[in-house]
Amino acid sequence: MLRNKILIIFLCLITILFFAYMIICFTGKSNNNAPIAKMTIIQEEKSNYSINMKRDILCLMLAYPQYITGVESKDQKVYIIMKSGNRIIYDDQNIKRNEEKISNADLQDMMNYVYPIQDIKELMPKNNESGLFRVHTFYNEIYGETRNQIESNLVHVKIKNKRFSFNKNNNAANSLKNVINELIPLAQNRKDINRFVFPVSGTYSYRVVEGTNLLSSHASGTSIDLVCSEKDYWRWVSRKDGQTRLDIYPREIVRIFEKNNFIWGGKWGDFDMMHYEYRPELLLKSRYFSTEPKQGTPWHNGLPYSDSTVNGYIKLIDEACYNIK
Ligand SMILES: [Zn+2]
Repeated sequence: MLRNKILIIFLCLITILFFAYMIICFTGKSNNNAPIAKMTIIQEEKSNYSINMKRDILCLMLAYPQYITGVESKDQKVYIIMKSGNRIIYDDQNIKRNEEKISNADLQDMMNYVYPIQDIKELMPKNNESGLFRVHTFYNEIYGETRNQIESNLVHVKIKNKRFSFNKNNNAANSLKNVINELIPLAQNRKDINRFVFPVSGTYSYRVVEGTNLLSSHASGTSIDLVCSEKDYWRWVSRKDGQTRLDIYPREIVRIFEKNNFIWGGKWGDFDMMHYEYRPELLLKSRYFSTEPKQGTPWHNGLPYSDSTVNGYIKLIDEACYNIK
């Protein structure tokens, strides 16, 4: 009997020791692996940070070649240098809510938005406001800061028998002319397109965005509103009615504007379907850098062309950002 009892106790001890060993192995393994996995993610995020930064700056330099003259870094912060000599910070490293980004965006906030160049079937989510982030000091350098400066940069673009003011700088007015030259013959043959375009509502207007004290992109003479429908603007209609308008909106109009570097307000969460805005930097990013970089490829992989100017920009960016990880 005693022998049997000792055997049972011995077997129980063996079983307890076995389970204890298994538990230690299991928890030890996860504890060892957790920091490694976490570190890999952080490293990947960090390296994507510098890649995205370089891509954003390259898109800005390609989009505004006459206005950005260089890139530099100081104390781990990167700046673009404007023709005027002013420096504009890429990332102020402040954590901001969307409302703050609307009034106080940095270049990173602004370029973080990947404009959906592909067709959309449904309205963008309501809280998707990223298309509205603009660094005003940046656009002031290009299109003019004061009302007088802006107005001295305006030229007329003839649309049918009316003349509309648009900013001539950075090829904005010429791009609008290209749009109109393509739209008018198309609208003559297609009644559905004609009624979504004409009569054009307006272009330059020194005004603030409705509900804010911020100047609208119309105030810099870089936006156009086509014919106005009461279903075009998120403040005027329900999302259901906005969706009905989106469903029938002729996509040819959108494609012609996008081809000429205009974004469409119909692709904003707070939709504005009559509105088109000249933003070459966002179209460049959407065309060439809309996906995360593949491991082991150069950060500028995706650009379909390279020439001495582009290579010069890439070299400038690499040199300025070499110590930013
Ligand atoms: Zn507008």
